[in-house]
Amino acid sequence: MTTSICRASCNVFFGEPLSALLESVSLYLHVPFCRTRCYYCDFNTYAGLLPLREPYVRALLTEIELAGALARTASGRPRRARTIYFGGGTPSLLSVEQIHRLLDACHTAFAVDSEAEISLEANPGSLTGPYLQALRRLGVNRLSLGAQSFDPRLLKLLGRTHSPDDVTRAVREARAAGFSSLNLDLMFGLPEQTMAQWRETLLRALELEPDHLSLYSLIVEEGTPFFTWVQEGRLVPADEDLCAEMYEYADALLQEAGYANYEISNWARPGHECRHNLTYWLNLPYLGLGAGAYSCFGGRRFSNVREPRQYIRLLASRQRPEAESETLSPETQMAETAILALRTARGLHLPSFRERFGLDFWQFVGQRLQRVSEAGLLEYDGSWLRLSKRGRLLGNEVFLCLLPDED
Ligand code: SF4
Repeated sequence: MTTSICRASCNVFFGEPLSALLESVSLYLHVPFCRTRCYYCDFNTYAGLLPLREPYVRALLTEIELAGALARTASGRPRRARTIYFGGGTPSLLSVEQIHRLLDACHTAFAVDSEAEISLEANPGSLTGPYLQALRRLGVNRLSLGAQSFDPRLLKLLGRTHSPDDVTRAVREARAAGFSSLNLDLMFGLPEQTMAQWRETLLRALELEPDHLSLYSLIVEEGTPFFTWVQEGRLVPADEDLCAEMYEYADALLQEAGYANYEISNWARPGHECRHNLTYWLNLPYLGLGAGAYSCFGGRRFSNVREPRQYIRLLASRQRPEAESETLSPETQMAETAILALRTARGLHLPSFRERFGLDFWQFVGQRLQRVSEAGLLEYDGSWLRLSKRGRLLGNEVFLCLLPDED
């Protein structure tokens, strides 16, 4: 099979030429503080470090400045930034004034689009109307609430400190403040969670009419209290078949309610797909700033030191906080681009692949997809290659076939 070739640069993503997107970046700002640590959490976040917030913000301001200088275009101009994402941790633990300074620094160091998507993750338990109104005035236009469940007992089991009513109140306050793009994170496959509880959580979430939903199945990660409790037999992980049923139930319910499943774990109303996260799935350049943040830029993947105090120390002497770096071979970049795109409902756009890498996708992949193709895991319409319904359940089998051979 061959692919048709875009005459000009392909512009099937965000209505922009691929070449322009590859010249831009998305910015991720990591805020590694939480009031308490949830029992399942293995993110790079810390409880008990709130006094470090101001020194950390100052370090982040320096890193934004250094990153902006490094990312300048060949002609010396600030690099265009399409999205900014405050993630964590709990970014809503920063004051309005701190977020203001961070956004100002981004605007100074980068050419931030006037219509940039600016997202902030927030804990529903600690949001107030005036705080949300101030965020809107700063240009934050997308709010992501870690709701996780509408069952108080399950929230307690997870170690979350908010209540279902906090989520309802936070959504109302956010709407009143003018947020027109709102995401709720929900978790399924929780220990002791029944299908009825999951259904109830989904229905309660839909009543709030969010624009976007991210649904994650619980993964019990080593080093978390949950992991220890599972080892000790005090906690029984959810049954895999039940998890799959929960996923399929949610997908049917959300699609019926007008949400498209545009990526394996994400559903959105039309026009509310998260542009920042699409950067990752389209394998476009991004810069992660802050402790432990990952970047993919200039053919390299690199990450920062994880520990906030070390991060602050390095930036205090204007040293870059990079801890690890990997140069990405063309084969790795091609494989990752294909795997990430296949996570999305649209799939991989083969003419864009060819434009980006100067190589036809079928030539790159050779016979490696034959088996999964014959097994009905893929669909191809002449331009887009995507996972079939069955393929979405067995995506990992397809992804493994795409990985380059290790030498
Ligand atoms: S709020 Fe989020 S980042 Fe913080 S501990 Fe809980 S899961 Fe981890």
